[in-house]
Parts: sequence; structure tokens; C-alpha cells
Amino acid sequence: MVEGVALAVDVGGTRIRAALVDTQGRVMHRQSLATPAQEGADAVVAAIATAARAVMAAGGRPEGLKLGLCAPGPLDARRGLALATPTIRGFTNFPLRDKVSEALGLPVTIENDGPCAALGEWMCGAGRGAADFVYVTISTGIGGGIVSEGRLLRGRLGLAGHIGHIPIRPEGGATCFCGQPGCWEAEASGSALTKKAVAAGFSGLADAFAAAEAGETGAMAFAASAAADIALGLAAVIHVLNPERIVIGGGVANALPLLGPMIRHNVDARILPPFRGVDILPAALGDDSGLAGAAQLVLRPACALAAGEGQA
Ligand SMILES: [Zn+2]
Repeated sequence: MVEGVALAVDVGGTRIRAALVDTQGRVMHRQSLATPAQEGADAVVAAIATAARAVMAAGGRPEGLKLGLCAPGPLDARRGLALATPTIRGFTNFPLRDKVSEALGLPVTIENDGPCAALGEWMCGAGRGAADFVYVTISTGIGGGIVSEGRLLRGRLGLAGHIGHIPIRPEGGATCFCGQPGCWEAEASGSALTKKAVAAGFSGLADAFAAAEAGETGAMAFAASAAADIALGLAAVIHVLNPERIVIGGGVANALPLLGPMIRHNVDARILPPFRGVDILPAALGDDSGLAGAAQLVLRPACALAAGEGQA
């Protein structure tokens, strides 16, 4: 019955989401629970197992079922380790893949959340058909995943795509959790923009963007400044990777109808003419990019991995 279906798990800093997902990215029997991020790695594995069992109780456990999992990095996908995830206590040189595999008795493949979401959008969403495409998530932080010349770009440890730490304001910028001043995500992530919106007298980011939509002068200036900071990082990404398409996910993607034209204007003003004309689109799968990608890790490993050995 479930040819081409995988058990997918998206571990976030606040929620663990699990579902059965097919090769088209269709999500079935969705379950979600809070991530016990401060209770240690074993508690997180237990919660992953609880969510996964609930999915299998609802949707069945077909012969040959495999589990694909993404989590906040940095993860060493080949060796199956969480290296040093800042938002989850105990995810330090932790054998995440093997622990989840032992808990559930299933083969498991893991991946960093940015490249995994990129894979989901590439195979099933707004990146479909693009040989050179960058997925950018703008939410709590800024992360991403890169498809270059028709394959997922991984780097030495599979950590390629940590684009949030591109410095856009090294003199006097906000301090990033990585310790450096003026990283792109310290200036332009959803959290960073929310802080700036509150400092500018708005109740939050959605409030500021709604006021800008309504034509309020101060809010329009705020939105223009946000778009300019988002564009600074995108210009760097475009110069390095020469993509044909950029797909933006995360909460800030909801503001693209407002910000998109301003982002486009600022990007084009900052890149060399031959690089212009990059499509900038919202993610097609919304919050499900990571789940869709996690399923493709095991359903279409040849597309997903140069690290094809990375399965427990
Ligand atoms: Zn940083």
C-alpha cells in the first residue's frame, strides 16, 4: 500500500514534527509535540520515538519502512552525529542517527535542516526543475541549502549552506549567537527584525508589516530597511553561487508580497549585471519543506546524497 512512502521527522528547537511522506512531498498522518530541548539528548530521542510511533500507529508500518530526519545543525550527516546544536541541550557529538535507529528498529538517515528543506523544495516544491538553486529560510535564524549543477552541495562535513553567518554589518552590527558582529541572521532574521520592529514602536513584526501595507510612513521605512538587509545577504549568495532561482521559506516568507519588490530592487542594485534576473520565490511547501526533504533522503538517496553511506 505504501510504496514510495517514508517516515519523516523534522526536529526543531521548539517542535518535533513527524509524518508519513511520499515522493511527491504529500504529508500524511502528521504528529507534532514539543521538543524537550533543555532535558538532554536522550529525552529528545524519546520524544522523536513517541512522535514516530504515533505516526505508525495511525498510518501503519509497512515492510521496508525507512526514517529520514532533519534537525538544526551542525550535524555530520555521514557519521550520523549531532556536532554542536546550540538550541538543543546534549546535542554535542551525540550519535543521533544510531540512537533513533535503536529506539525504533528502523534504518535512519539524518541531515542538517537547511539542506534538507532545500532538498524538499527541490524535489517537491518551488525548486523543481532548477539545476542551480538556493533555499533560504528566514525565521529564528537564517539558514539555507544549496543545489549547484544539479546536486545538493554539501561541503567537507555536510555543513555547506550556513549562509546566516555571512557578515553584512561587521562594524557596529548586532552580535550573532556565534559571537561575531553583524552576521546576516543577527541583522535580518525573523527574530532580529522583530527586535528592530519593537524598538521602532511596533507591537511585533507582523504589526509593522501590516502598517507598511497600509501605507504608514514609519512602517514603510522599516520594511524598506528590512528588505535592504535581506538583499545584502542575497547579493553575496548570488555572487558566490550564480543561482537561477532563490526560494525563501520561514515566517518572513509570508511578507514577500510586501518585501519582494524592494528585495529585488536592492539585490539588482548590488550585483554585477550578468547575475541579474534571479527568480526570488516563496517556498511552495511552507512549514513542510523539511518533512518533504527528510522523506526524500531515504526515498531518493541518489538525489540527496553524495554521503549515501550515511544510513544506520
Ligand atoms: Zn554568526
